[in-house]
Amino acid sequence: MVFNDALAVRRAAHEAGKPYVTDAAMSARLTALKGTPERAWLSEVSSVVLQQALADLNTAYRNFFNSVSGKRKGPHVAPPRFRSRKDSRQAIRFTANARFKVLGNGRLRLPKVGDVEVRWSRPLPAAPSSVTVIRDAAGRFFASFVVAVTPQALPGTDGECGIDLGLGHFAVMDDGTKIAAPRFLRRAEKKLKHAQKVLSRKEKGSRNREKARLKVARAHAEVADARRDFHHKLSTRVICENQAVTVEDLAVRGLARTRLAKSVHDAGWSAFTGMLQYKARLYGRDFRKIGRFEPTSQVCSACGVKDGPKPLSVREWACKQCGTVHDRDVNAARNILAAGRADKSNACGGRVRPLATAAQACEAGSRRGAA
Ligand SMILES: [Zn+2]
Repeated sequence: MVFNDALAVRRAAHEAGKPYVTDAAMSARLTALKGTPERAWLSEVSSVVLQQALADLNTAYRNFFNSVSGKRKGPHVAPPRFRSRKDSRQAIRFTANARFKVLGNGRLRLPKVGDVEVRWSRPLPAAPSSVTVIRDAAGRFFASFVVAVTPQALPGTDGECGIDLGLGHFAVMDDGTKIAAPRFLRRAEKKLKHAQKVLSRKEKGSRNREKARLKVARAHAEVADARRDFHHKLSTRVICENQAVTVEDLAVRGLARTRLAKSVHDAGWSAFTGMLQYKARLYGRDFRKIGRFEPTSQVCSACGVKDGPKPLSVREWACKQCGTVHDRDVNAARNILAAGRADKSNACGGRVRPLATAAQACEAGSRRGAA
């Protein structure tokens, strides 16, 4: 590997008390190396990628030097380490200079690699300035493009929304909409559980165990992808349809301390509320969090009377004051919305200049209640 070769040369020079090896010297060395039989394969690789490896090493060294000299603030930066083939995640970046190209037939042309088939997650909104090809722990390849988009404001709306995040349903809205985890996510989770069971039965150190381990890694990645996809779609939809969104804050942390910890963690609420928050910022919406101390199930959302705590088994009740029949989760979502309205100063999203294309964001969202 070029990165490791270059690192070895610079370390050797340092140990011999010689000055730092310059980039020019390093590039010349690289050209010479291509002539040797052991490194002949280097000429098979796009030269831009090789230069990139050198540039990455330079960045690592610069960060280290600046950290030592105090130029760089923050935590101490360690000197660059050798990269291992065993690193679970590997990436190569192609900039515009590398002359990569997105072809009309949907394939991606990479220098010295050829045309590769791409399963596009969505169309590119404009010509990309660079692409990073990533190989993840499960052995899958991804292409990540950098694309500049023109800022465009999201049209204003009067919509307001309170969301109760739960375990029965992933989310319950103040208008009564209940959103369950989608079937593709539940299927992926089932597959993961099965793969983990198979792995636990395999003998340690056996080849079959290695195969089963890879299957678990793949299933994990699938669940993570499916969940992220679900969170993205739902958060985009909520932000597009509402000017203000309120969620409960500490419920997640409060529950996570109890025996429910695993399912809470798996539900990924914090990832979801994180998306709501940054999308609110991006599109000029208000994002509010209310504290756990708000007694969302003790108060009637219609008349406001507080009639005390109810055990978790009580899913529905009629208010003794006004007679309104409440669904526990919907009542909670309504109280969350009311608390958010009462505490507008609590807005975490704030109104910031929108940064991304609104049209694109709203394409993914459909009408509320469709899920
Ligand atoms: Zn009432």
